[in-house]
Amino acid sequence: AVEVVDLGKTYGSGPTAVRALKGISLGFAGGEFAAIMGPSGSGKSTLLHILGALEEPSSGRVVIGGTELSGLSDKKLTLLRRARMGFVFQAYNLIPTLTSEENVMLPVLISGEGTAKYEERLDELFSLVGLGKRRSHRPDELSGGEQQRVAIARALVRGPDLILADEPTGNLDSKTGAGVLDLLRESAARYGQTVVMVTHDARAAAVADRVVFLADGKVVDEAREPDADEIFERIRTLESAG
Ligand code: ATP
Ligand code: MG
Repeated sequence: AVEVVDLGKTYGSGPTAVRALKGISLGFAGGEFAAIMGPSGSGKSTLLHILGALEEPSSGRVVIGGTELSGLSDKKLTLLRRARMGFVFQAYNLIPTLTSEENVMLPVLISGEGTAKYEERLDELFSLVGLGKRRSHRPDELSGGEQQRVAIARALVRGPDLILADEPTGNLDSKTGAGVLDLLRESAARYGQTVVMVTHDARAAAVADRVVFLADGKVVDEAREPDADEIFERIRTLESAG
């Protein structure tokens, strides 16, 4: 499980300081698939970066699987990220000189774990993301959506406890996007993983167990298993209120 308590984040200082998060408290259970929605600049990516220990909060706490992040050294944080988290961000950060398969296996190689036991897992992942025929392609030989799917397979390969995804369906057609969402949801349910996904797409968010709405660095609404219509309705209400 993941918990954030009274999280604050201010970028910069003085008159140009930006308060990106203003006291966010949220808990995410193992196996839970949560979506974060909210207007541009509301703090969604900032929250995701702090959950992923890629950025430090200015105040408040992040507790992942009982471990409070602020107590950890940089080295421990790096190890925690590698062992327990999977990232699907907009910059896919694929290594251009490596094939799809090598990119997906990168977290395994870095971990020093043997690669042999991953043969089946790779078959499974590549078929799930629909890239069975692209395993030996390099990133520049793939479309944007295909690169995104490689990044997703890479995030899932070691079965992380926490998957953080920023607009994972942003560049995908609706069919491929739906496949990716199914993949995230199934992965969460089957392996008890926590998925936190930022999205602007109400239909993507409707796949989640829970939708959290941010505005101006605060949680302003939350919905359990809403359908797309309810999400649209809540967004409309929030927009007219703000
Ligand atoms: P979008 O939907 O456009 O991706 P977002 O909800 O992800 O928006 P964030 O990227 O979290 O928004 O940014 C929240 C606020 O913090 C914004 O006002 C942004 O300008 C500011 N901000 C984000 N990163 C930095 C940074 N590195 N330095 C200074 N300000 C930043
Ligand atoms: Mg963002």
